Amino acid sequence: MQTAHTVDVLRKQISDLRRDGSTIGLVPTMGALHEGHLTLIRRAREVCDHVAVSIFVNPTQFGPNEDLDAYPRQMEADAAMLEAEGCAVLWAPDVEAMYPQGFASTISVTGVSEDLCGASRPGHFDGVATVVCKLFHQVQPDMAFFGEKDFQQLAVIRAMARDLDLTQPHVHSIIGVPTVREADGLAMSSRNRYLSAADRTAAATLPRAMKAAIARFEGGEMAAPALADFESELLSAGFASVDYAVLADSASLTPLSALGDESARLIVAARIGGTRLIDNMAVTPPVRG
Ligand code: AMP
Repeated sequence: MQTAHTVDVLRKQISDLRRDGSTIGLVPTMGALHEGHLTLIRRAREVCDHVAVSIFVNPTQFGPNEDLDAYPRQMEADAAMLEAEGCAVLWAPDVEAMYPQGFASTISVTGVSEDLCGASRPGHFDGVATVVCKLFHQVQPDMAFFGEKDFQQLAVIRAMARDLDLTQPHVHSIIGVPTVREADGLAMSSRNRYLSAADRTAAATLPRAMKAAIARFEGGEMAAPALADFESELLSAGFASVDYAVLADSASLTPLSALGDESARLIVAARIGGTRLIDNMAVTPPVRG
């Protein structure tokens, strides 16, 4: 595996890999790698000749009171995992390489970025869209892989790629990969390591309560009472607050008052012991016949 810390070195490595017509898959990450990330990388290896993984804790997607400084960083351990997975390139810029002195541009996607995490984390998706756009231009991958774990992020990136014509010629497709979970159902996240043992146990209530709410939506109930019970269950289990819990249209992410014929998703963010957890699950519309 080759490692690049500057755009010039990265471009040289990528063009060498491409010389024989090979395809490149990009997996953007913030490091502190776990099985969720590794699943994205394995998917990329299945469909691309070479995989480039970026590790960059992007300061512009963190708010002033968020966990930028505390965010786990373990570059050596991550590099060893990437090597073992057969990655071709580790793109590990520092902040100065990504945002040189005088950097002054921002990409802002309206619509899908505005509610849910966009409302509770102002500016977050501008930071995400800007850095992912830069990563696309830096690596020029054939495909880019993102987790459905960050469902709204995936929608924002798809919208940006469509609106700014980023999907041709550089990124032929953006692939969403289903969420990888722990044995008790909790979605894997680099932030799970912030949880105390007691909070980690209580956190498993989140996916369990989501499934219970989804069974009610699929049974034809209105969303509001099921979401109210969902919130109460989390608070009784020891969660400090629920930022949002929404039954949403999977494409537009607009809230639904009940499940209809459209593909829908339960999307939630909740806080436990100072850690903000996000999760989402598919809600299956009834088969009408
Ligand atoms: P992060 O390092 O948290 O920015 O995540 C990097 C990529 O890995 C994003 O596309 C995430 O959606 C994806 N990812 C994170 N956790 C999981 C998970 N549990 N399952 C699948 N993908 C994930």
